[in-house]
This record gives sequence, C-alpha cells and structure tokens, in this order.
Amino acid sequence: MIDAPDEHIRPRRLEDFIGQEELRANLRVYVTAARERGQAMDHVLFYGNPGLGKTTLACILASELGVNIVSTSGPVLERSGDLAAILSNLGRHDILFVDEIHRMPVAVEEVLYPALEDFAVDVMVGQGQGPGGVRTVKIGLKPFTLVGATTRIGLLSAPLRDRFGIICRLETYTPRELAQVALRAARILRVELAEEAALEIGRRSRGTPRIANRLLRRVHDFATVRGAQTITRTETDEALSRMDIDPLGLDQMDRKLLDVLINQFDGGPVGLKTLAVACSEEERTLEEIYEPFLIQCGFLKRTPSGRVATPRAYEHLQKSSVPERS
Ligand code: ADP
Repeated sequence: MIDAPDEHIRPRRLEDFIGQEELRANLRVYVTAARERGQAMDHVLFYGNPGLGKTTLACILASELGVNIVSTSGPVLERSGDLAAILSNLGRHDILFVDEIHRMPVAVEEVLYPALEDFAVDVMVGQGQGPGGVRTVKIGLKPFTLVGATTRIGLLSAPLRDRFGIICRLETYTPRELAQVALRAARILRVELAEEAALEIGRRSRGTPRIANRLLRRVHDFATVRGAQTITRTETDEALSRMDIDPLGLDQMDRKLLDVLINQFDGGPVGLKTLAVACSEEERTLEEIYEPFLIQCGFLKRTPSGRVATPRAYEHLQKSSVPERS
C-alpha cells in the first residue's frame, strides 16, 4: 500500500531504513552478491503487518541494485493477460513489485510460475477453432526479480511460496526505533521535534512506522496552529489525546471493538462476521488492521469458537466485572 503523503520521507537506501537489523544485513549480502555476479537477484517475499516497510524495502532493493521497479498489486491483476503484458515489458534485472500478492487470482498466479522459474510466459494467440485458431505461444522474458509483499503469508499457495528464494518476515518496531523514525521524518519535514516527544510518538505508534509518521504529521498540525517552534512532550501528549489515541496507542476503533465485544457479546466468543457488522467495519479491516495489535497487547484472543476479550481488556476499558466463564 503506497502512502502518498509519506512518499518523500520514505527511506531510499538500506542504511536509512531503521530497525530490522538482521533482515537489513542479509539483504545487503544478497544485493552485493547479485551485483557482483551481474545477475538478477533471487525472488523475494516480504511478509508482515501493514505499514512495517515492505513497499519501502522493495523500492530500496531497486535503488541498491540500480534497476527499475514496476509496482502493481494482487487484486489489480484481474486477467492473466495483464500480468503477461507487464512481465514482457520489464527490462533486464528489473524488479516487479506485487503488493498484496495473496490476493492474486489463481489464473494469474499460473502465468507467474514459468515466469519465475524459466523467465518465460505462455500467451494465447489467435481466434476460433482449427489449425489457425487459438494456440499457446511461449514468449521469453528478460531475467527479473519478483518482490512480493503480503500481510497474510498463510493465504499464499504453497507452489507460489516455494518459488521465492528469499522469504523475510518484518517484525513490529520498538518504541525507540519508532522514535528514530519520527525524528528522521521530522528532519526531512524541517520540524523541530524534542527527543521526549519523539519517544512518546514511538510509544503510541503500535509498533508501526507508518503510524509514527502519521502521528508526527498530526502533532505537527497542532503545533503549527499554536505557533509552537518546537514540538515538546507536553504538546505531543495534548495532541494525541485530542486525537483520542490513548497511552498504549489504541484509537477510537480499537476501543469500540473491545467495547462491542464486552458489552454486546459479554466478552465473546463471537464470530468475526458478527463482530464486523456490530462495529460497522469490514471483516478484512478488523482482521488485518485492528486485531493484530489488540492480540499483541493481550486484549483479544482468537479462539476456534470466535473472538474473546481477555481480563486485561476489561481492565483497560475500566470495566470492573469479568463474567465467569464455563
Ligand atoms: P508496507 O508496504 O509494509 O505497508 P510501507 O513500506 O509503505 O509499508 O511503509 C509505510 C511508511 O513507513 C513508509 O512511507 C516509510 O516512510 C515508513 N517506514 C516504513 N519502514 C520504515 C523504516 N524501517 N524506517 C523508516 N521509515 C519507515
């Protein structure tokens, strides 16, 4: 997912990418090896929650390798011909970045297999039946690197997953790393951000750089309107509480989800579909954006019979009674 307002603060080189030390060191090795051998880098799969830097890393790989990057996404590739056209236009060693690769239709995925293994695609040409009718023609491709990104590696088919030579998981970031993300973005935006303010942003960014950048922009808005030169800790606290972001980084929707679970469904278990209707939110948004963080905080559990609020959730929402469970 490309976050347009963040485009100019997106790190361009591996050394500007904060955190994920081991992953970064490994990518440095793979990039150097591919360059030294004059080959396309092996296909790479990045997986992890939204906003952790998958798209950023794909762009960084392109600039470190000195190649072009063509970006698309799984749901956009509706027909196999769309993918074949993109593949045949790629230059030597270019990167094809496919975001949300788990949402690529099966027919399109099948075009990808020979492309990944033999740098070739089978294209249907002609019309009608008989000898001059529809037939398959193999078209050779220039060697390229597929970089796939997914929030749901479990939904990737095994044959597709197995065709990636490099599979990397992105972890959530520590508050300190997120403070560095905010300080780096502040420097680029020419905003003075106090160290303590950056740490507070880091603590409330739910482990995610995209959120740290978003909070920084909003806190900056509040500071600008007040005419403040430097964003201090006090200003940050005030702005974040006006945005309804609590000390753990939970926002209105997180609290609504817990509140609905506790008050409408006695703490669960309740199915995702029902919960989504009750929260007026899409199932996929709940599952991919809100739940991972609530689970990580220990507020929510996914059980075979549905979602359940934990005693910590009751505590956090300042509910006094936890119902007896059988
Ligand atoms: P994803 O593709 O995983 O959803 P992105 O790569 O689009 O996430 O990252 C979201 C934003 O967060 C980017 O615009 C980038 O500025 C910032 N960002 C992500 N990871 C880092 C990082 N490790 N260091 C600095 N900024 C980062």
